[in-house]
Amino acid sequence: MAATLADLLEKTEAYLPTEKAARVEEAYRFAEQAHDGQVRKSGSPYIQHPLEVALLLAEIRLDSHTIIGALLHDVLEDCPVAPGDLERRFGLDVLKLVEGVTKLTKLEDQTTQTDLGSWDGGKAPLLHAASLRKMLVAMAEDVRVILIKLADRLHNMRTIRALPPRKRLVISRETLDVYAPLSNRLGIGNFGWQLEDLAFRCLHQEQYREISRLLAASRSHRETFIHQVVQTLRKETRGARIKADISGRPKHFYSIYQKMQRYAAQGRDFHKIYDLFGFRVLVDDIADCYSVLGTVHSLWRPIPGEFDDYIANPRENMYQSLHTVVMGPGSQPFEVQIRTSRMHEVAEYGVAAHFRYKEGGHGGDHRFDEQMSWMRQLLEWNQDEPGTEQFIESVKTDIFPDQVFVYTPKGQVRELPMGATPIDFAYRIHTELGHGCRGAKINGKLVALDRPLRNGDTVEILVSKTEKGPSLDWLNADLGFVKTANARDKIRAWFRRRARAENIAQGRVLLEKELRRLHIGIADEGVAALLGYESTDDLLAALGSGATSTLQLAPKLLADAVPAPPLEAPPDTGALPAVMVNGMPNMLTRLGQCCHPLAGDPIVGFVTRARGVTVHRESCRSLHHLTEAERRIAVSWGVTTRPYPAKVAIEAWDRLGLLRDITTVLSSENVNIAAVRSTHHKRGTVVELLTVETNGATQLSRILSRLEQVKAVIRVTRTG
Ligand code: MN
Repeated sequence: MAATLADLLEKTEAYLPTEKAARVEEAYRFAEQAHDGQVRKSGSPYIQHPLEVALLLAEIRLDSHTIIGALLHDVLEDCPVAPGDLERRFGLDVLKLVEGVTKLTKLEDQTTQTDLGSWDGGKAPLLHAASLRKMLVAMAEDVRVILIKLADRLHNMRTIRALPPRKRLVISRETLDVYAPLSNRLGIGNFGWQLEDLAFRCLHQEQYREISRLLAASRSHRETFIHQVVQTLRKETRGARIKADISGRPKHFYSIYQKMQRYAAQGRDFHKIYDLFGFRVLVDDIADCYSVLGTVHSLWRPIPGEFDDYIANPRENMYQSLHTVVMGPGSQPFEVQIRTSRMHEVAEYGVAAHFRYKEGGHGGDHRFDEQMSWMRQLLEWNQDEPGTEQFIESVKTDIFPDQVFVYTPKGQVRELPMGATPIDFAYRIHTELGHGCRGAKINGKLVALDRPLRNGDTVEILVSKTEKGPSLDWLNADLGFVKTANARDKIRAWFRRRARAENIAQGRVLLEKELRRLHIGIADEGVAALLGYESTDDLLAALGSGATSTLQLAPKLLADAVPAPPLEAPPDTGALPAVMVNGMPNMLTRLGQCCHPLAGDPIVGFVTRARGVTVHRESCRSLHHLTEAERRIAVSWGVTTRPYPAKVAIEAWDRLGLLRDITTVLSSENVNIAAVRSTHHKRGTVVELLTVETNGATQLSRILSRLEQVKAVIRVTRTG
């Protein structure tokens, strides 16, 4: 059933003074004439679209200029109407709104013409970053432009079936990535969930149908359940003399879908999701909110960890409410949201609620609530320096906290997850650029390849002409060279494709290095068997291709005997780490000063005459001299948080700041350095001997890897 001008006027006359409502009608006539003869893809007359957009905004009672702007939002773009005409008829304020929307529409057209084939499957198409920028600049100029644009998108999503399938996908993706988060960030939950559900329906048809089925299958049961809970709550609140408006409904599709995904990530069964219901209680004041909460919690058992007090701690978008999840009748959990009617208005209309027309308001259209600090800040920034980069960056990180936006040398925007490095960037641009990456410049300066990118960085990738292929270190998660799965997959694929012989040779180098570093003497066959490989070559090939890493091997190499947990916490006896003697944690032990055993090392105990049990590494030479076999005793590692010392030798080309860089690595790992000794050699090298206190073999192995990345370091070895 198509909406009519009468519907719009009925809405606007309810809250606008007569003369302003008359302007709305005038604007409608103007738009109708301008769009005369134009038809939408759905076959309906074009005027239907601006009318629906205006209706959406009238429902949330926006000021007359916004409603008029909505009616006229497409006339500059599609009709022979000059900006001067608009200004003369409706004033500068309306003209600016329409021009703002038109700018965004032009950008939108670019986005929707994107070739799907060029998508790299990333979270958002690259153009979205650009569209977001434009949205934010427009928003800073006048947030009502965005409100019109959001309503425009909502109506377009409602009629999206008229478009070809490819276009539907592009628009839906952008809706989910840019428009819905923006609605939510502006607190317009009423637009946000609709945009989400409509886009979700297009993008994930299967899952959408699955949720439909799930909800349909349980319909009668669900209605009984909702009725039962609502009735109980009504009775109780009435008994407590609280005026409450209580409603219950299934949650929105997209929020159920997100929950399904969280469940899947935790390995839980989607069909076990029962809290598909949300109940809402609207009351008059804050005191009532808390008494209703008390009532709910006395009726049904609250689920621990699910209670949020957004009244005491409002969200940044000013959302306020109490949320709790309780175990309902028949062990069905459900959520209850409790808030005042005023809070509800903010929840549904967010920033728009602050623009609502105020009766007889003198310029009240533009007044922000004192508390809308976020929006106010945006506007203040914009007054200082219109559209500054700093402003855009701040807002972007605010709306999309997990993303960074960086530039190519040509000034194109690329969006990457927070923590992404120049290598991720290179692979995002092109696979070959990633493979060839040997260095990077950020804002013109050479940087390390593991430097996380920051918003606004300009990134230039340096490529080697002679060397080819990525480094295996890039796959070592602890070195932090690569953040995105996309880059990691491409690197792995490169190594998989490399000939097996080369992988084996590379694997041998890595294994020998690791064994030397960890100070372990063990035959190749032994290692392969220990790690569950059929042959040495299989192990080496796995290592050389990056299918496994030395970091994964280290703990297994060091501890084929898994340390058993202690029966009780070991006593704190100063420097003693937790070692269990014959399974008992309380024996007096000390670590051998000859071999410095490390948690995870195979160890053996030796009973001394005066000082309890001394713990040695199994390979310790001094054990050979201790011939009295009966004084040997089985020991194992317990669980402790106290540190294990290990000696490390770092050979490096001497340079200024070497020791500082080494200690930076160590302090970022939170390990103490117990002793440092430097030996300078001829030819300009230096050997730093350190004793570091790590929490075990895994950390030590990681530290050795990271130390090797320090500039000028030649070799890092564990010496004891
Ligand atoms: Mn439009």
